[in-house]
This record gives sequence, structure tokens and C-alpha cells, in this order.
Amino acid sequence: MTHLKECTQCGTCCEKGGPALHHQDLPLIEKGSLSVEDLITIRKGELVHYPATNTIKPAKTEFLKIKGTKGSWACTFYNKTSRKCTRYDNRPLSCGALKCWDTEESLKLAGKNLVSRLDVVKENDPMREQLIAHELLFPLPDLEALSRPSKKRVKKLEQICNKEIAHRIKAVGEFHLSVAQEVFYFGRPIFGLLAPLGFIVKEAGTGIKLRFR
Ligand code: SF4
Ligand code: SF4
Repeated sequence: MTHLKECTQCGTCCEKGGPALHHQDLPLIEKGSLSVEDLITIRKGELVHYPATNTIKPAKTEFLKIKGTKGSWACTFYNKTSRKCTRYDNRPLSCGALKCWDTEESLKLAGKNLVSRLDVVKENDPMREQLIAHELLFPLPDLEALSRPSKKRVKKLEQICNKEIAHRIKAVGEFHLSVAQEVFYFGRPIFGLLAPLGFIVKEAGTGIKLRFR
């Protein structure tokens, strides 16, 4: 067994997922090295991995992270062929702190000083009002409590999902949002968060039908 003491640039950490952003990373957005299209919003209550305890729990606060690529969480800035970070000189704080052979530094950063959408979307931006309204209208259900939902609960969730979809369609049309912008401003659609919990989602017109496995 080898005992790694330096980075071999194997890329495993970048392939496991992009980093969460900290307040120290805000200058990257301000100077344009990172755009909202590069980011994904993880809303309060989404189920996330807590490395300190190696558990999956609801996020205690909202945070932003570098989005994934090709349907995976692999960081969008990781070039698999060259095994290099395409934004190395402008990589977020926690990338520099990540040493897989010694997790002390990254665990100290984990969950602290995290950036939210309101740190990025300024007061004069019309999307600020939109994202606040969306958050009030469509708070996430308690995802941990959905392991055995009743039929009534599934129906209610289906209604919430469809109202949220309609709300998104309206905002996308009104503000000409790309998919990446939509996922930044509103997070992932609620139905997308239900699918990994055993819900079966089927398209139905402009909405969805939901059932539990
Ligand atoms: S920190 Fe570790 S996992 Fe990440 S690229 Fe370096 S050797 Fe690989
Ligand atoms: S920004 Fe660069 S170093 Fe950080 S996870 Fe992405 S590819 Fe890896």
C-alpha cells in the first residue's frame, strides 16, 4: 500500500464534483472568471454529502457550486483527456485546499462562509426579486421524510411540481433564461430532486405525472 504525500493529478477529486464556493471566491465572479452559467444552486434542504461525517443529510443552508458535466457531477472545468483543470489559475478556494491524503484543511473549510445566490445577484438585478419569490412559493419539501409517501402526499407533490414547472416556464420566457441560468436562479426543479428518492416522473403535457415505485 502506498502512502500518497502529494497530488498525482489523478483527477478523482475533480471527477467526484465541482467545489462549493466560499466568500473568498466572490472576486472570481466579480472579475468575470466565473459566470452564473458555470454554477449550480444547491437549495436549503437538498440532500447533500457531508464529508466530515460521511453522511447524506439536508443542506443546512443554500450554497453554490461549480456545475457538473454530461449528466454527472464531474466538475465542468475538468478536462478528462489532459487530466487538467482548465481554470487552474482561477480555481475556487476549496480546490487549492483539497489534498486527498490529508483532509484537515478542506474539512476546516467545509460548510463555512458559503456563498448564496443573494451574494451574487445584486439589488438592481430583476432576477433577485424572481428568485426570492420562487423560494417563498416553492420551498423544498422535507426530502428525508419521503421514504414512504402516502398516495395523497404523492398527489400533493405532483401538484407542487407542476406549479413550479409552470412558474419556471413563465420566468424563462419573460427573462430569456438559458437552462444553465434557470438552474442557477431557481436551483434544480423539485421533480428532479424527487426522482433519486424512488419517485417515477413521467412527462405529461407541459408538466409531469408522479408516482412512487
Ligand atoms: S488531490 Fe488526490 S484525488 Fe485530487 S487529483 Fe490530487 S491525487 Fe488525485
Ligand atoms: S475547478 Fe479545477 S481543480 Fe477545482 S474541481 Fe474543477 S477541475 Fe478540479
